[in-house]
Parts: sequence; C-alpha cells; structure tokens
Amino acid sequence: MRPIRPARAILALALTALLAACAEPAPPPATVDAPPPPMEAADDATTANADVHRFNIGTLQAAVLRDGDIRFPNDGKTLGVGAPKAELDAVLSKAGEPTDTVHLSVQTLLVRSGDRVLLFDTGAGAADFADAGRLPAALQAAGVEPAQVTDIFISHAHPDHVGGLLDDSGAARFPNATVHLSAPEWAALQTDDANAALAAAIQPRVDAFTPGAELLPGVVTAVEVDGHTPGHSAYEITDGDARLLYIGDAAHHFAVSVQRPQWTIAFDGDAPVAETSREALLARAADTGVTVSSPHFPYPGLGHVVRRDGTFVWAPLQ
Ligand SMILES: [Zn+2]
Repeated sequence: MRPIRPARAILALALTALLAACAEPAPPPATVDAPPPPMEAADDATTANADVHRFNIGTLQAAVLRDGDIRFPNDGKTLGVGAPKAELDAVLSKAGEPTDTVHLSVQTLLVRSGDRVLLFDTGAGAADFADAGRLPAALQAAGVEPAQVTDIFISHAHPDHVGGLLDDSGAARFPNATVHLSAPEWAALQTDDANAALAAAIQPRVDAFTPGAELLPGVVTAVEVDGHTPGHSAYEITDGDARLLYIGDAAHHFAVSVQRPQWTIAFDGDAPVAETSREALLARAADTGVTVSSPHFPYPGLGHVVRRDGTFVWAPLQ
C-alpha cells in the first residue's frame, strides 16, 4: 500500500497550490436559490441571508449555515488520487463540474431542540483559506448569538471544521457551549502543535465521548466513521421518525466521492480504512433512505444517496 502523507500536510500543500494557481481571485460563489420561508414567522433577529438555508427535521428547526468555499486544482494530487485522470474528468464532466478546478462548499448545521441550540462543526473561522469566515454573519441572520449555542458536535479536528471555534482574538467563540468530539479525536487534537491554542481554549468545555455514543438522548447519536482522522464521527439527528445523517468528511465531493468511494482523497489520514468507511456509510444512507447533510457538497448539501448502476449517486433535495 502506498504511503499516505499526513492529511494536514496534504491540505496545506493543496491550499498552497491553490493560492499559487489563483492569480485571479475566485469569482464569488453563484447565488443559490433564495432561502425558503422561515419555518415560523420571522422575528426581528431573523433576516434573509443567502448563506442560511432553513429546513426542518421532523418538528426540529434546522438551518445550513454556509461559511465559505474551497477550490483546488484537479491535478490528481488531492481528489481521486491514483485514479485514471480521464475517468476522474469524466465523472466531474458528467456531473456538470469543471475539470480544471475542484470546488467544495464549507457549511455547518444548526439545529434547535427545545431550549438547546446545536451546531455541527464550525467552519474554517479566521483561517486564511476557503474564502471562509461567513459563519458568524449567517448565525446572526439565523437569529442565534454565539453565547446561545449550547452544544457543538465536531466531526473531526481539521481546520475547515474547528476553525470557527475561536474568534478573531483567539478566544472561544461560543463561551457557553459544550464541545462534543470523540475521545480519540480529542486525544489527537491535544498532541497537535498546530491546535495548541484551540485545545487550551476549549478544554474546560470538552465532552470527549466514546465513538458511537448517544449524546443527547433521542436527538443526537454519534456514528463512528474511521479513517479520515483518528476519531472522525458522523452524527445522526432524530425527532421521532424523522432522521438526518450529518456525514462530516466521510465523503468530500458530491460526484466523485459518492460515485467512486474507492478513490482516495488526500485528506484521508488512513486511506484504505477511510474508503471502507465511506462505502459503508453511503450504503447505510442508501439502504435506509435517511436524509443526508454534508458539510462539503454543493450548498446546502442536503439530499439522499441512492444506488444506481452498481454504485451510488447524490440526489440533492430540490
Ligand atoms: Zn472538511
């Protein structure tokens, strides 16, 4: 098995290449469909914002909050590593995507459950990549102040998921939130020099859970998805019979990662394990019909995984 470079190093390389490649600033993301009407009459604090997509999980109010966009060259070094370039390009073209640049959205998920306000991942925050940093405005437009967030569920400790935990001054952005992440992910984060400030800031409020644990009874359960990082977790959110599966980085690209889950993405720390996990989670989504929420699929990243032609395809919600 070929050696896999550490995901962080690969991410840094990809971003460096991206910056070098982009002499011209990337065009602003296309305006997506306007957010649907609020689930309840909007109060004064709730305003229209193209980075807020409201929806329901059963009776729970939820919203996808967009933080930014990642773009990197489609050079076979990041997405579809080792795959025949012509086949990679064919999958992208058939999906209506360009073949020179790969685009990943960066978005988080907000859910209200009773008096609790839940946030799944936090975007890239002040990190100088991913055209990120829109989460605070989106959160405000959704009618939520940072101090009102009670629980944050982290899929894994890559910068496009934990960057938003800190504000521009390096302090915890969500002062009252319990930060849930798996025990192996927390252990790895604490030994990562690049995350030393983050670890110190969130340590008093961390809930390091056993992978797969039920975290909020009847509402949030972690789903162990090994391989991307030491303790990567997806989350299943339920309200009665209604369910949503937040997949984290089990799959990155809505076409390539779903239709060719056996192709490596360089961000995976343990590629063979991650590939197996990706196929298993896609199969679970397809076989249960659960609605899926992805932090990287085209905004708002909500849809279903369906089986077609011996593999899977992404069917976004309209
Ligand atoms: Zn990610």
